[in-house]
Amino acid sequence: MENSRPSPQPKDIPRIFVLRWGHRPQRDVRLTTHVALTARALCASGFILSDTQDPHIQETVTKITKSWGGTFHFEMGTPWKRAVREWKANGGIVVHLTAYGENIQTCDILNRIKKLNKDLLLIVGSQKVPGDFYSSDVSDFNVSIGNQPHSECSSLAIFLDRYFEGKELAKSFDKARIEIVPKERGKEIKSNMDSP
Ligand code: SAM
Repeated sequence: MENSRPSPQPKDIPRIFVLRWGHRPQRDVRLTTHVALTARALCASGFILSDTQDPHIQETVTKITKSWGGTFHFEMGTPWKRAVREWKANGGIVVHLTAYGENIQTCDILNRIKKLNKDLLLIVGSQKVPGDFYSSDVSDFNVSIGNQPHSECSSLAIFLDRYFEGKELAKSFDKARIEIVPKERGKEIKSNMDSP
């Protein structure tokens, strides 16, 4: 698993990290794992589980990445304020996904974000997020995926799909040990372990 934060150097394709705030180890393990796996599968470059540790989630994400390929940064325990500060210091911008934000469908917020061509830190909450998240000290943009409350997983998936214009769904992952062979019926998995 890659373990480096974005460097300040300019890059062609901005990188997206997801910061999950408010994880409650007793009740959110499954959902937070799904948020991390959604981030990885839809071509975000990394995941920060802020302010808390949960080795179960790290173990699952590491295992999936090892088998299904690609490089995906995972870190946990980082205080959210520090993660945001360092992200901005490295030239990235912060996007907070919230039902209260500017609607991704009815205004040009996605274009404004994409035009900047900068690394994105996408913040998703769980329980009610601190009011600071809405302020310009933290978020450069507050984006809503429709203005109805739903889920961190669905809002993340829709944001990434719109950002990457669906191309992330066609991507194959480097160094995959196993791969799905898509087919009309049944299940086929190809092992790459024997290839030279
Ligand atoms: N009740 C919490 C509040 O008032 O902040 C929200 C809880 S919601 C289940 C958890 C997270 O899902 C939110 O923090 C936000 O990141 C995301 N979310 C839910 N609905 C959303 C929407 N319509 N657009 C963008 N993000 C959304």
